[in-house]
Amino acid sequence: MIWDPGFLDYDFGPHHPFTERSRAFAVSLLDACGFFEPSSGGRRIGPVLPASRAALEGFHTRGYLDRLEEISWDPRGRALDGGDTPAFPGCYEASARIVGGTLACLHAIQAGEVDHALNPAGGLHHAHPSGASGFCILNDLAVTLRQALDGPDRYARVAYLDIDAHHGDGVMFGFYEDGRVLDIDIHQDGRTLFPGTGFPAESGKGDGAGLKVNLPLPAGAGDEAVLPLFDRVVPPLLREFRPGLIVLQTGVDAHAGDPLAHLQYTLAGYRQLVGRVHSLAHELCEGRLLQTGGGGYLAENVSRVLAATASDMAGRSVYRRAGQPLPASWRADFESVFGYPSPRHWEDGVPLSRSPWRKESEEDLVHRLEESLGVRFPDPGTPSDQR
Ligand SMILES: [Zn+2]
Repeated sequence: MIWDPGFLDYDFGPHHPFTERSRAFAVSLLDACGFFEPSSGGRRIGPVLPASRAALEGFHTRGYLDRLEEISWDPRGRALDGGDTPAFPGCYEASARIVGGTLACLHAIQAGEVDHALNPAGGLHHAHPSGASGFCILNDLAVTLRQALDGPDRYARVAYLDIDAHHGDGVMFGFYEDGRVLDIDIHQDGRTLFPGTGFPAESGKGDGAGLKVNLPLPAGAGDEAVLPLFDRVVPPLLREFRPGLIVLQTGVDAHAGDPLAHLQYTLAGYRQLVGRVHSLAHELCEGRLLQTGGGGYLAENVSRVLAATASDMAGRSVYRRAGQPLPASWRADFESVFGYPSPRHWEDGVPLSRSPWRKESEEDLVHRLEESLGVRFPDPGTPSDQR
C-alpha cells in the first residue's frame, strides 16, 4: 500500500465529487483492522515524491506540463478541461505526487520487494498527453506503463485491465498502436456515460491491432453481467498475451448506488473480479500485479472495496463476512470528516434494481468483440463439440 498524506492535496474543493479523502479512508480502514501490524503481511510505503518532469514527459507533452506548472501558481478561476477539472493551487505538484505513487508501486514490484502494490490515490485514466479530462490532470497509469515498457528492468509486454465504470480513454488511446500493451476495459456503455468511447470496434491500430478490448455494459448491469463476461473473455486473452506485469485500475464507481454512473456491482462482485485478476497474475507473471484506485463517488464504497480487495490480495483479508461490523473508531472518523452516517458493516445490503442483462446480451457483445478482434470466445457453458 502506497500512501502519502500529500495525496490529499489533489483537491478540487468541497463541492467537487472527486475526493482523495475517500481513498484515505481505505487506508485507515486497513489500519484500523490491523492490516499494517508486522504479523499481518501488509506494508505501507511512503512518503512519496512527485514524479520527475522526465518521467511525466514519457507520456505528457512539454507544452501541457509547462502550462500546468504555470496554472498551478495562479489557478484563479481556470479550468484544465471543459470545466469538470478545475485548476487549484499546487495542482502540478499534487498531480505529480500521485503519479509518483503509482511509479513507486512499479519500482517496489520491479525490485522484488512486493508481489502486489496498490496506490489507492491513483487510477487517473482519462488524462491525455496534452490535456486534463474527467477529474484527471496527469495520467499516472500511462506514465507508469511507459516506464514499465521503456525504463530500466522493463517488461516486454504489460496487460492493463480497467474495471472503472468509465472507459479509460487516456490509457487506451495513449497505447492504441502499441503492441506491447493489452488493454481490456469493462465499463458502462459510452452512449450513456462519459467519455463516450470504448466500443468493441475500437480494437487498436498498427502493432496494437486486436489488443485493445472494450466491453461496454448497459446501464443497470451488475455482477451477473460482469463476472461471466470476464471469465469468458479475459483469461484466454491474458494467457495468449503472456504479460510480464498486470496493471489493474479498480474504479469503484461501477458499484451500485454510485451517483455518477449506473452499473450495479457489489462488494462481493468486486472481490471476485479482483480475485480473478490476482489468480491470473500468479498464473502468468509470478504474481506481479499493480493495482490503483480510480473513480468512485461514495466514500463508503471506495473505502470498503479498496480495503477488502487489497487485503484479499495480500492473503490477509480484513474482510470476514458481510455482516461483520466495521471498527468503531474508523466509523467515528468517517462521520466527522464526511458529516453523514458511516456504513455499519462490510456489506449493508444494497438495493438493486432489475438488471437489463440477458444471456442474449452477452452473446451479442461477445459476437461484436469476435468480429472486431478476429478471436473466438466459446461459451464455457456449451459442450465443446457444439462450439
Ligand atoms: Zn469512473
